[in-house]
Amino acid sequence: MDLEKYGWNDFFAEGFAPYAAEGYGVGRVLLQHNKIYVLYTEGGETEAEVTGRLRHEAAGPHELPAVGDWVATRARGTDGTLMIHAVLPRSSKFSRKMPWSWADEQVVAANVDTVFLVAGLDGDYNPRRIERYLIMAWESGARPVVVLNKSDLDPEGAAERVAEVEGVAPGVAVVLLSAKHDEQLAQLAPFVGPGLTVALMGSSGVGKSTIVNRLAGADMQRTAEVRLGDSRGRHTTTHRQLILLPGGGLVIDTPGMRELQLLVSERGMRETFEEIETFAAQCRFTDCRHENEPGCVVREALATGALDPERYRNYGKMQREMEETAARQDQRLAQERKERTKRLTRAFNKTQKRKG
Ligand code: GDP
Ligand code: ZN
Repeated sequence: MDLEKYGWNDFFAEGFAPYAAEGYGVGRVLLQHNKIYVLYTEGGETEAEVTGRLRHEAAGPHELPAVGDWVATRARGTDGTLMIHAVLPRSSKFSRKMPWSWADEQVVAANVDTVFLVAGLDGDYNPRRIERYLIMAWESGARPVVVLNKSDLDPEGAAERVAEVEGVAPGVAVVLLSAKHDEQLAQLAPFVGPGLTVALMGSSGVGKSTIVNRLAGADMQRTAEVRLGDSRGRHTTTHRQLILLPGGGLVIDTPGMRELQLLVSERGMRETFEEIETFAAQCRFTDCRHENEPGCVVREALATGALDPERYRNYGKMQREMEETAARQDQRLAQERKERTKRLTRAFNKTQKRKG
């Protein structure tokens, strides 16, 4: 009975209250493999499935359970299989758009407290990329912490890089370390305490796996394997995607988390480029394009150096990307709507013919 160890707290208890009153049980999703889920429950680890009703009534895949979710469960009467009846309200979520449908959102990790935005101090280091990851982090609801890894590769330049990152990430903790040195990983301890869930984001090769392996310990990785049986009696072996660390704390490490596309949002954009928005809000015209309008505070800030031109360029680029993504989504939605109408018309004509 260690739900707290797995992150249970007052927030989730509140979401669960109406289900508790109806006699439901509760569990946290450790792993999802096709239609099979592995949950941590008061009775230990159990396989579970989603009820047909939840699947049917979900407005989209984002309303189905994801790794890290707390869910309301009940044993099925016929064979005792644990069934997931509902997903409890999330404290945070990371999601991506489904590649085949821009309209659908898929959650790749839920209820993450802290997200480590990992960057490597090697040739690939790029503060603009950190800004992009920050946008996603703010959007998720999790608290971002920038981890500058591979400090051993650039011992002289490291301090300057920390200052640079602090500049683009105001108010965000920046941790400088080398994941190859265990004693330096202790700096992450305040963010990986008991009951806290962390996830990692960052480009390939920055050292995310190294950090997870070090936090989890080699033995841990092996015991993280589980054997799953599906309804047809087939078995597969796979890894837990939410891991309880030996020192307390939990790590979510899913393939989906690694493939996260940049889902830029207005909110995340505003928080990341807060000072630009503040300048823009003071322009004389509310629809100022900051080109050559009189009373433009953004141009003035650029001229006096109060605003970093490179940050401003990046801001413009992100805004264009956002607009393009939105236009693409609109196009896709219009196309889907057209196809749906065509299908419905065809089905309708068929039944009319049959009647006639
Ligand atoms: P991931 O793709 O983000 O999961 O990155 P990996 O953890 O697989 O690391 C990529 C490479 O960087 C591996 O060869 C690691 O050994 C190496 N690496 C990780 N951390 C450090 C570090 O602190 N210093 C150095 N020099 N190399 C590191
Ligand atoms: Zn302006």
